[in-house]
Amino acid sequence: KKPWLGTPQRTIEILQKYGFRFQKKFGQNFLIDPHVLDKILAAAEITEDDFVVEIGPGIGTLTQYLAYAAREVCAVEIDRNLIPILEDTLNDWDNVTVIHEDILKLDLADLAEKKNGGKPVKIVANLPYYITTPIIMGLFENHVPVDTITVMVQKEVASRMQAGPGSKDYGALSLAVQYYAEPYLAANVPPNCFMPRPQVGSAVIRLRNKVSKTEVSDEALMFRLIRASFNQRRKTLLNGLRNDKGLSFQKEDLEIALAACGLSPDVRGETLTLEQFAALADYLRRS
Ligand code: SAM
Repeated sequence: KKPWLGTPQRTIEILQKYGFRFQKKFGQNFLIDPHVLDKILAAAEITEDDFVVEIGPGIGTLTQYLAYAAREVCAVEIDRNLIPILEDTLNDWDNVTVIHEDILKLDLADLAEKKNGGKPVKIVANLPYYITTPIIMGLFENHVPVDTITVMVQKEVASRMQAGPGSKDYGALSLAVQYYAEPYLAANVPPNCFMPRPQVGSAVIRLRNKVSKTEVSDEALMFRLIRASFNQRRKTLLNGLRNDKGLSFQKEDLEIALAACGLSPDVRGETLTLEQFAALADYLRRS
């Protein structure tokens, strides 16, 4: 069956039928524009072979589009008030399961194993903006088998995902995204495509999983170095790494490592490329 939610009028009808109240703490901005929904579906390249996980289905708008195009959809929603609404709006599709859970607490690798025989899944979401970064980082670092992650994020987060060294948007998220995936900007989406309207512009980004070209022997150590160096932005890399509670390198060892990697002692973390962080991690691991 074809999706029928996705217009302002249908959305209002459902919200009124259930007396639904938006909860700010859950980052609820529901999509009300069919063109944007079509664009998300196209960017995610959903086919009838796909097992799709949707994060935060809301009242099920995007879920209907996914159910229409995919083999199977699993939608994970934290707000208990939305569960009865989803039962109603998704009633026409028998290939959707709704899980009432916090996505940050769900073992997605386990879900992929049980529901898709461990084969890569596609993740699609109009993300709650307050937890975009932990969700994306979690997917990568827990090695959930994913094919693509297609997400609506704040415009500024989309820029961070694509930023390179030296740019003001460059940070731990840029490095993680670019290490694990190929980012592609699929659409810019203005606030009037949502109800209620968010304060800022949004963008649809597709992250295609890739085998990293950057070789590093200890991925976890590299990302600890990256986090430490961006936690203290205006400091030198040396001080950032020295002051980090999770790391325990001596100043002298860090100085030697920087020199060995051809980096100046007062270099700032935000100027390093992924390859340079990888080389530093490799050196420190051996030292
Ligand atoms: N997909 C719907 C749409 O596009 O209209 C809703 C998108 S809305 C931006 C984000 C959704 O994520 C809300 O339904 C919210 O309740 C849900 N959500 C927020 N935090 C969550 C979490 N930790 N785990 C699962 N869902 C969450």
